[in-house]
Amino acid sequence: MTWDMIGHHWAVGLLRRNLAQARTRQAYLICGPDGVGKRTLALQLAAALNCEEPPEPGDSCGHCRPCRLIAAGTYPDLHQLEADRLGGVLKVEQVRQLQRQLALAPFEGRWRLALLLRFHEANPSAANALLKTLEEPASQVVLLLTARTPEAVLPTIVSRCELISLRTLTPAEVAEGLIGRGVDPVQAGLAANLAGGRPGRAIRLSTDERALSRRAQIVSDLLALLEGQLGERFRYVEKMTRGGESGERREKSLEVLETWLALWREAMHRSFGASPAIGGPAGDGLVEKIARCLGPEQIVSAVEATQRTLEDVSKNANLRLAFEALMLEMPVLNRG
Ligand SMILES: [Zn+2]
Repeated sequence: MTWDMIGHHWAVGLLRRNLAQARTRQAYLICGPDGVGKRTLALQLAAALNCEEPPEPGDSCGHCRPCRLIAAGTYPDLHQLEADRLGGVLKVEQVRQLQRQLALAPFEGRWRLALLLRFHEANPSAANALLKTLEEPASQVVLLLTARTPEAVLPTIVSRCELISLRTLTPAEVAEGLIGRGVDPVQAGLAANLAGGRPGRAIRLSTDERALSRRAQIVSDLLALLEGQLGERFRYVEKMTRGGESGERREKSLEVLETWLALWREAMHRSFGASPAIGGPAGDGLVEKIARCLGPEQIVSAVEATQRTLEDVSKNANLRLAFEALMLEMPVLNRG
């Protein structure tokens, strides 16, 4: 079994060579947007490091005990660390506890592994504590860090890691990967389109039965907002953000913004004369209407404003303020 990844062939190749030539690095920092495959790549690397029967050097078999337990997240030599919630804070006590565990010899594997997810959420004292571990490496320990961007991580940490930056894939690559996993081709095309080049997101969409009805609601909300007065737009924000700032609310907001961004991008391509994307998004009628009724400059501005809001919200900005600013920037579409 080769590495079970959609896309990112260069990264898989690089890591397999590292392992096959016994040049495993002490720490890897895998960067890229949410859902692009950072955690999946880290887990594949973890499996390849501890697999008991690798079919080829640098591969993993997928069925030995370490391979199965790593996939299930229950391997005793794999320690996972992350902030308490998306947009939360990774704290120094968590890093200290990890350090105590890493000081011990592996329980059963060749390597003791630490998976530090969303390390951009580490606060400065947690990052500084980890730096100590990187400066005084223990043998048989590999650290696997993930983060949105290398810029969001302490430079002294980045310089001690092998940096792997994952980019978003094309919808065609994502769709191909989904079809290879047995997803119906129409569903695969749709999910690939919505996912903005991120296979993790596409897999979730293609396996979530409610994703399509949620998406239909998000599309019709956008239409209502574009045709609505400012008062209606602000009432929508009020409803969206009522009850404060839970991680769940933030994730839902990200889904809304990502869906809107995909629609605006598709409308932009359409207004520049491109033919409809494969699979055809569920909001096709709205995309057509936007491309017909708004000028290319208005559409490009809306793409930029939505993109900016998405970045702000994923960086933990105040939800309500971020959405209100977007409402002010959205163009108006005439009813009918
Ligand atoms: Zn194995």
